[in-house]
Amino acid sequence: MRAAGTNDSRVLFMHENVTPLLSVEGVTLRYRTKDHLVTATYRVSFDVYRSDRFVIVGPSGCGKSTLLKAVGGYMEAVEGEIRLNGRKIEKPGPDRVMVFQEFDQLLPWKTVKENVVFALTASGRLEKKAAQDKAMHYIDKVNLSDFADSLPHTLSGGMKQRVAIARGMAMEPDVLLMDEPFAALDALTRAKMQEELLQLWEDTRFTVLFVTHSIPEAVRIGSRILLLTPHPGQVRAELNSDGVDDEGSDGKRLSQRIEELLFDEEPLKGRTAHV
Ligand code: ADP
Repeated sequence: MRAAGTNDSRVLFMHENVTPLLSVEGVTLRYRTKDHLVTATYRVSFDVYRSDRFVIVGPSGCGKSTLLKAVGGYMEAVEGEIRLNGRKIEKPGPDRVMVFQEFDQLLPWKTVKENVVFALTASGRLEKKAAQDKAMHYIDKVNLSDFADSLPHTLSGGMKQRVAIARGMAMEPDVLLMDEPFAALDALTRAKMQEELLQLWEDTRFTVLFVTHSIPEAVRIGSRILLLTPHPGQVRAELNSDGVDDEGSDGKRLSQRIEELLFDEEPLKGRTAHV
């Protein structure tokens, strides 16, 4: 792997001779409503490599969630192809696990531990004892061991999101899909959760595809950032943000550049969008 450039931290990393884990190629996604067709994304392409913290950022309605749904296997592309480990994605699978924004993604009648164990045993991949051990391992990673026997309604929003993340990670998917997972949290909790996610990544180097409309969040979380244009989402640019300190001068420059690119009114004219 080498950086395609010298001292510019925003350059794209070139992954030479490395097969992407996830490859999205020319993907157009469309909804058919009663009266018309809504094109959510238009010919979007990007590659995600193992251990990337790949962030998709763009204004509301540009198709970020729709892209994640398609990677999850819940929606078929009308044009283009999505491949994971070289195989075309055709349906949902345990190799991709989604964490949503909503706090009610846990089963309310099951405890924290039971929620995670259930996800592990339901797919038939693990016996109960092995599932319990693995569940506690990941519950501990998100600092909720003391709450393993609590029911979701007794937890704060941030704690419920931690459980959802622990559950997702316990399934050890090839790629963890996160759709604005911290958007409904207050600012302080959100900042704390971002920090914890980065810490978890330091521990386990999982691959995450993370969607947000927040530029500061993208700069904080991402090692690579894909910018989409407003509706219908097309690739505006792809930036390398690995090692950028979001609170330092590099981070501020990067945020400013993203803002300029996102609000750039110039049409794309089919140009290469790598920056
Ligand atoms: P984002 O996640 O970037 O906010 P979405 O992926 O939710 O954007 O939506 C992209 C576009 O697709 C928007 O124009 C939205 O209105 C439209 N859309 C999303 N879901 C549906 C749906 N179920 N039916 C019809 N149109 C939809």
